[in-house]
Amino acid sequence: MNLRERWHGTSGGYSNHRCRCDECKRAWASAHRAYLDRHPEQRERARKRAQAWKRANPDKARAYDRRRREKARANPDKARAYDRRRREKVRATRRAAAVERVAAALRHWGMSAEKATEAAPFVLDSALRKEQP
Ligand SMILES: [Zn+2]
Repeated sequence: MNLRERWHGTSGGYSNHRCRCDECKRAWASAHRAYLDRHPEQRERARKRAQAWKRANPDKARAYDRRRREKARANPDKARAYDRRRREKVRATRRAAAVERVAAALRHWGMSAEKATEAAPFVLDSALRKEQP
C-alpha cells in the first residue's frame, strides 16, 4: 500500500497541492524552466524586474538567493556559521516574546513592567517549579 499521494513529483503537486517536497519542487522547477524556454519574453521580464529590484536595493540581498546560499553551503565552516546565526535569531525572537509575555502579565496586574528583563521568564519558571508539591 502506498500512502503517499500519486501527484508527488509533478508540477501539479507544487502548484495545485502547494506541496514543497523535493520531488514536487524539482518537477515545478523543470516545468517552469520549460515554460521560460517556450516564452523567452517572460524570462526577460523576470530578469528586468530582478535588476530593477537590485538597483533599488543595492545594500540588500534577496531573502532567498540560491547562488549566495549554495556558495555559503559549499564551505562547511560558513555553513556552520550560517546555521548558528539562524538558530541565534530564532532564540532571540523566542526570548523577546517570553519577556514581552512577562511584561504584559505585570502590566495586567497593575505592576511595573520594569522587572521584565531577559531573566524574568527563567525566574518565573523556577518559582513555579518550587511551588509544585
Ligand atoms: Zn510533494
